[in-house]
Order: sequence, then C-alpha cells, then structure tokens
Amino acid sequence: MITKQDDPREHVSPVWTHLLDTPLVRGEGAYVWDDTGRRYLDFTSGIGVVNTGHCHPRVVEAVRKQAGLGLHLQANIGFVHEPMLRLIAALREVVPPELDTFFFSNSGAEAVEAAVKLARQATGRTNIIAFQRSFHGRTVGTMSLTSSKTVYRVGYQPLMAGVFFAPYAYCYRCPKMEANPELYGSHCRCDWPLEQVRFLLRSQTAPEETAAILVEPVLGEGGYVVPPAEFLRGLREICDEYGILLILDEVQSGFGRTGKFFALEHFGVVPDVLVMAKGLASGLPLSGIAARRELMERWKEGSHGGTYGGNAVACAAAEATIRVMQEEHLVENAARLGEKLLAQLREIQAHHPDIGEVRGLGLMVGVEFVVPGGRAPDKARAKSVQQACKENGLLLLTCGTDGNVIRWIPPLIITEEQLDEAVAIFTDALR
Ligand code: PLP
Repeated sequence: MITKQDDPREHVSPVWTHLLDTPLVRGEGAYVWDDTGRRYLDFTSGIGVVNTGHCHPRVVEAVRKQAGLGLHLQANIGFVHEPMLRLIAALREVVPPELDTFFFSNSGAEAVEAAVKLARQATGRTNIIAFQRSFHGRTVGTMSLTSSKTVYRVGYQPLMAGVFFAPYAYCYRCPKMEANPELYGSHCRCDWPLEQVRFLLRSQTAPEETAAILVEPVLGEGGYVVPPAEFLRGLREICDEYGILLILDEVQSGFGRTGKFFALEHFGVVPDVLVMAKGLASGLPLSGIAARRELMERWKEGSHGGTYGGNAVACAAAEATIRVMQEEHLVENAARLGEKLLAQLREIQAHHPDIGEVRGLGLMVGVEFVVPGGRAPDKARAKSVQQACKENGLLLLTCGTDGNVIRWIPPLIITEEQLDEAVAIFTDALR
C-alpha cells in the first residue's frame, strides 16, 4: 500500500489516462491484482501484450537465466548476440518463409518507423498510403500515419509529410452499404475501398512517388474491424502492379491473437514487410520487422538502429514466448475459444438492440454499441458497460474512432471457465 504523505501517484504525468485508483502490483495467468488485494480477470492482456498470460513461468525463467548471463549485449557494435540468433531461428518457424531477414527495436511505433524508413530508402520514393481509422503509434512519424482518433494528433502539428489516407474496408460503416441498406450483413464483394486507393494513386500520390501501403490486417485501435479477404488481396495486387511495398502492421493482430500465428494467414497475403511487437516478448519491450533479404539489403548499412533494439533479455523472453505458444497450442486455443466467444456474444446481441455488430477473429473480438434503431455510435453505453465490468472484476478496453466498441483481447491461455465467467460479468453489466 502507498502510505507516504507525498503520494507518488500525484507525480505521474496526467497524459496517461485510465489510471486505476489503486496501483496494480502483480499479474499471473489471466489475472492481475491491485494493492488492496483485489483480483481482476484481465481481458485487456495489457493492451494485447501478454498473450502467454501474465508471468508465464517459462518466460520468467528465460528472463531470469538471460539476466544472469547479460542484460545488455549490444547488437550494433560489430556483434550480434546469441539470444537474438535463437529468436530469429524461432521466428523462422512462424513467419512466412519469404520474409527471412529480421530487424529488431523496442516498441511497435519504432518498428513501424523502421518499416517506413526501409520502404523509403529501398524504393527511393517518399509517400505512404495508410488507412482511415488506423493506429500505428505515437512517435512523430507514426502519429502522422495514424488516424484512429484526433486526440493522438491534436496540438502536435505539423506532422510528417507524404502520408495519404484511404478508407479502410469497414463494411458495417461503409457509405456504399449505407446507400443500399438491404445489403447490410451480406457477404461483401465490393471494390469500393480498393477503388479509393487507386483513386489516391491517380489524384494525390503518383505510384512512382508511393513507397508503401501500410495497413493493419485487422483494425485494432480503430475498432476491431475484420476486412473482407478481397481487400487485403486487392492491396497486394495494387502493390505488385506499381512496385509499391506492402507493409502489414501486425503489432496487435500478431502472435496468435486471431487464431493464426499472424492474421495474414487468414487472408492468404504475404507482405513485403511484416511489423510485430506487443505479444512478441510477453511484456518485455521488443518489436521487429521481417522482410525478404533482397529488400533488407537495399537498406543502407548503419543508416538505422538504436541502443536498445533487440535487447538480449527481451529476445530470450520472445524465444520462450514462441516455444510456449507452440508447445501449449495457444494459437489453437485462441481459435477455439474465439469461436465460442463470438457465438456467445452474438447470442447476447440478439437480445440487445444496442449492440450493432459483433465481429472478430480468434480472441480479437469487438462489440460495437449503437443507439438502438440505427447505427449512431453510443460511446457512453460502451463506457458504462466497461465500467460495470471493472466493478465486477473484469477488465476490458474500448476502441474505435467513436470509442463505442468494447474489445475482447484476453490472454491466449484462458480456460473455457474463465471465458464463461467473463461473458457472465459482461451480460450482467449490460443489465
Ligand atoms: N501498431 C498497432 C497496430 C498498434 O496497435 C500499436 C499499439 O497499440 C502500435 C502500432 C504502436 O505500438 P507501441 O505502443 O508499442 O509503440
């Protein structure tokens, strides 16, 4: 318990929102505890990070072991270190084989920046196409590529130039569908979002100036939106047609989250650059990009790096994370329980007209709240349900440009009983 008169909580920057009244002190499996001893079922996974659960014993052991061998074995002074090589060997088993060369940094944003720098230098082109409602980070470069909410950009202008936004394939809020309401819920075969990308290439960023298309295969902060496979395949085709690089940001959707190791497997699309972070090291700061060797070789030696990128302890944690995921079948668990969760939430939706859509892949599931009778986003309802869940011991996060989507991102180690408990708390909260 914090009892000092000069309470350190008063000195935490208020730029961090959502501070719990009581600090968290411990995490284990699917649970976290605050300093009063209260236990919460953590269906936020620390924002999609602890896919192996809090403090998985094998990850903790790998961290302990590496900490005793070397906390920081510099990777950019003419050496690589052993934990990084072991991690690369493990990643080669789960990343598409074409993407055979790796670069590591610390955060998701840094990895996105690395991908953009690689794309610009390798193509000699300047511009990037990103998508409306997407989130790629909070550094100056990545916030310029982010459009999920203005709060991430306001007061920080001017941003990085050369960024162009196209609409994401968000069928529930597609203007084409809105014009034809009878099509809602039908399988989408519409080319509209792809036409918008082609329109950008004709009207604002010429192909010969466009280095990359950067896209989340499942929209994360922007609302847990699963696009039709045709959308991502169409982007691949556009990239191939014009020599543009396709960068898939799997920072949130990767590492088993969607019931496949990477979400790209659902869509049959291999990018030129794959960006990963969050679940990669079960909570230690580590991110990375993977690309074909031939592409990585076009990145000038010494032109990018960072003191801590690919830290030895974080690499050891990441290798252990991959082994745990493989040996404990966590991807399969995410697929199986994800289907169950979707079915349960859709059943609940049938009795709740304020739930406009339930969607997701694996254990990356969104529940979109609307004002009954239409599709007007209902942020207040999402917030109050989230708050009621917290009061009853279940942590959930919201997302979406309008803050009206509750996202379900539990650790992939959850049991069926824990899932049922969470759904029961959510059902009560709806009342
Ligand atoms: N990309 C995506 C898809 C994300 O969801 C996030 C974070 O939520 C980021 C990038 C940025 O990652 P970080 O917060 O580690 O910089």
